[in-house]
Amino acid sequence: VTRAASAAATGYATLAERARRMRRHIIRMTSHAGSGHPGPSFSPVEILASLYFAELSLDPQHPDWPERDRFVLSKGHAAPALYAALHEAGFFCEETMLTLRQVGSLLQGHPHVKTPGVDATTGSLGLGLSQAVGMALGVTMRHSRSRVYALIGDGECDEGQIWEAALAAAHFRLGNLVVFVDHNGYQFDGPVEEVMRLAPLADKWRAFGWRVEEIDGHDFEQILGFLERARHSADQPSLAVASTVKGYGVSFMAGSQEYHARSLTSEETQRALIELEGPAQAPAKTGDGG
Ligand SMILES: [Mg+2]
Repeated sequence: VTRAASAAATGYATLAERARRMRRHIIRMTSHAGSGHPGPSFSPVEILASLYFAELSLDPQHPDWPERDRFVLSKGHAAPALYAALHEAGFFCEETMLTLRQVGSLLQGHPHVKTPGVDATTGSLGLGLSQAVGMALGVTMRHSRSRVYALIGDGECDEGQIWEAALAAAHFRLGNLVVFVDHNGYQFDGPVEEVMRLAPLADKWRAFGWRVEEIDGHDFEQILGFLERARHSADQPSLAVASTVKGYGVSFMAGSQEYHARSLTSEETQRALIELEGPAQAPAKTGDGG
């Protein structure tokens, strides 16, 4: 094993631990709220963990730092995944995180710019990618080195505005724009290929002028490789069609449409949290004088 490969393996293990913790946060938040979208919040967890803990340049103490990178969660119903990442990154405490969906809470059911670390108010599907295009154009005009990232849903690709944004991003040669399609194969009304056929999805984005890769959205090596190559794209926006699984990470949630728009029962919550328990604590050292 080379030193680089060993360092990479350590990095992937660290990200996997972040992802595990994020999934626990998502379950605790939505079960405490008694509502929300745990299934579609689980599918992009590895992508968000990679962004927040290996890619984005941010300052949790100064969420509005002008030179920060931007992230737009266009599929806003996955807000718990975003909040889990922001909490892990230090933008707000656990007590705040558990106020999800309460009246007056900083953490509403869909992202809002009043929440520290949230750059775009989203949830009406189709709008977030246009906001990201505007941000990418704006930072370019200011000669800023900030980069702009967005995550859109596969069902969200039914929205006409997604394709208007796709045209504009290529037209303006936004090499600083990086987008993931969370291709979990389902949307509210059923399988995406039955509701509105997307295939061949990667070819469609290529035809619109984007640099496109198809990756496994739960594989850190593939996600980080895509992000690295996107950094070398001077004048073409980059997009990953990321194959994912709804509910990925908990056995009875994985691949199920059941948890698209409801929180878990108390019994399901316990089962999920047990599955998401961390590695056993190492026994405390004794006899070392401490
Ligand atoms: Mg979907």
